Amino acid sequence: MCSKLTIAIDGHSSCGKSTLAKAIARALNYTYIDSGAMYRGVSLYTLQHNLFNNGVPNTPALIAALPDIDLEFKKDETGTQQLFLNGENVENEIRKPEVAKIVSQIAAISSVRKKLVQQQKALGEKGGIVMDGRDIGSVVFPDAEIKFFVTAASATRASRRFNELKVKGIDTTYEATLENLLERDQIDSTRVDSPLIKTEDAILIDNTHLSKTEQLEIALSQIQVKLQPC
Ligand code: C5P
Repeated sequence: MCSKLTIAIDGHSSCGKSTLAKAIARALNYTYIDSGAMYRGVSLYTLQHNLFNNGVPNTPALIAALPDIDLEFKKDETGTQQLFLNGENVENEIRKPEVAKIVSQIAAISSVRKKLVQQQKALGEKGGIVMDGRDIGSVVFPDAEIKFFVTAASATRASRRFNELKVKGIDTTYEATLENLLERDQIDSTRVDSPLIKTEDAILIDNTHLSKTEQLEIALSQIQVKLQPC
């Protein structure tokens, strides 16, 4: 009998994980979940409610507010997943530099992770899912049939992300974009709870010199080995 796989994609900030994850989901007709959007959603709530103490996130206040934070994914008319925070579509808001600036601090808070990981596990319960993030292969779906760890040179990642933000009309610079992604990599890789790691069973893809199509072909050829014919 053919079964639907669980595909975990982790990697550094702005390395093209979500581009790859979406393309795999489209090719296999699986659901794509952007777990980073959920951490960005909690960060946006923190900004909206000004939960800060001397400029740093006020952890006790945020933990107390967690039951009031409702995150949901809904598909738009083109089938693209959009994140809703307490009923409001925040897909554009969560991509802004203000959110990127604090998201890794928010994601280092264990109670935040506990809430989101629980929701992510539930979303993937039936398989047929491609989820990208930082702890998907290590914590959310440790038994995923396929795990990828994606990376690229930091200058390449920064220029790709800067161009994306420019197209969206978001006012920033290449230098600020590079600084943000290096800072997030550092916090994400060194935090105590669920740091970004490449698990032993994850397949490494360095896409510095790969096109999107080449990257997808490499990933699909690995997935093919695990897929059973229907
Ligand atoms: O994937 P994206 O860059 O949108 O993620 C934003 C941030 O959310 C990351 O830098 C990281 O701090 C956090 N994150 C995480 N665990 C995940 C996904 C994202 O800690 N599974």
